[in-house]
Amino acid sequence: MDVRNCRKCGKIYQYDGFKICPTCRKEDEIDFQKVKDYLYDNPNATIQMVSEETEVSEKKILRYLKEGRLELKDGSKNLILECERCGVSIKTGRFCDKCAVEIERELKSSISPKRDSHKAGNERMHIADRHKK
Ligand SMILES: [Zn+2]
Ligand SMILES: [Zn+2]
Repeated sequence: MDVRNCRKCGKIYQYDGFKICPTCRKEDEIDFQKVKDYLYDNPNATIQMVSEETEVSEKKILRYLKEGRLELKDGSKNLILECERCGVSIKTGRFCDKCAVEIERELKSSISPKRDSHKAGNERMHIADRHKK
C-alpha cells in the first residue's frame, strides 16, 4: 500500500495518483463547482465578486483559470486573466493564442545553433585588425 502525506492538509492518505488527499480533492471540487455555477449565472462578475459570493479565494479562482478548467465567456467584461508574455486579456490558460504560437516557434529555433551571429562576429574582428595596421 502506497501511503503519502497530503500536500495540502498534511494528513496521511492512500496514494492513488494525486498529490492531495481525497478529502482535499473533494473540497477543491466543491469550490470549483461553486465558482463555475456562479460564473454561469453571473458571467460579467469580477473575480472579487466571485470570491466574495462563493467564499473561494481569488488565488484559487485564478488557479482554476490558469489550469484551463474555467473559461470566461465571450464578451465577458471581467478581464481578470492576462497573458504572461504580452499582458493582453485572455479567457483561459497562461498565454494568448499569438504568444503560444510564438513561444513554440522560439523553442524550436533555439534548438538549432545560430551560425549567422557567429559569422558576423568574425567579420568585425577582421576589420579591427586592419585598423591597427
Ligand atoms: Zn488533504
Ligand atoms: Zn500574449
